[in-house]
Amino acid sequence: MPEGDTIHRAARVLGEALCGQAVLRYWAHRPQLLAPRREGHVITTVEARGKNLLIHFDDQRALYSHMRMTGAWHVYGHDERWRRAQARARVIIESEGRVAVCFDAPVIELLTAPELLRHPTLSRLGPDLLAEPLDEDGILAGFTRHPAVPLGEAVMNQGIAAGIGNVYKSEMLFLARLSPFLPVEAVPQERLRKLVQDTAAMMRRNLGPGMRTTRTGPGSRLWVYERSGQACLRCRTRIQMRRQGEQARSTYFCPRCQGVEAVG
Ligand SMILES: [Zn+2]
Repeated sequence: MPEGDTIHRAARVLGEALCGQAVLRYWAHRPQLLAPRREGHVITTVEARGKNLLIHFDDQRALYSHMRMTGAWHVYGHDERWRRAQARARVIIESEGRVAVCFDAPVIELLTAPELLRHPTLSRLGPDLLAEPLDEDGILAGFTRHPAVPLGEAVMNQGIAAGIGNVYKSEMLFLARLSPFLPVEAVPQERLRKLVQDTAAMMRRNLGPGMRTTRTGPGSRLWVYERSGQACLRCRTRIQMRRQGEQARSTYFCPRCQGVEAVG
């Protein structure tokens, strides 16, 4: 599932393949993404903002994509076999040596510079957890604006901090021994700051190749995510899952380690 670290990795791989190169061939599945023509334009930068990816061209236009649960960017050699079916391709960008393919992304837009500035999603993003330097104070101020929101929803709010998805939400709150159901205002500032610092550090550690992991040692590479019914790796209590927020996203937690009272 693409979270901030996955999108930053994708931006780096795409940037290495495409930056400074003229587009030789460009195809997209919707006509709105085809005009004005991209062929001949040079790709200047590829950028991740939280879970959003932007490919910038030399005519100030940017191709914006959001992967949600299903999307992915792949980079191939010209003769290489694709790892997803061609019918699932949404955008294909060919440069001299490489082919970049966006599969299955539900959100793709070709934006002008003014459209990018006032974009409803991008203009409301909070500080990026993988930005250097990390804007801790900006993120803490964002939390302060949502005092009554449960922690498990607040950390997913991309307007507070950009980059956290469902996996990091459950994992980082477990590691911090914080209940996902506690309102923001009940958590001391220094614990929130530590949560922000530790989450940024964990995401940065996962920027390299390989599977995302929040734990070392044998066995599971994650502490609680998708482990409901199994024993907590710290205290052997059963891990639980509850749905949280307007989108009913799954939150995994250890009731004992995180001080969550039993319900029902
Ligand atoms: Zn536990």
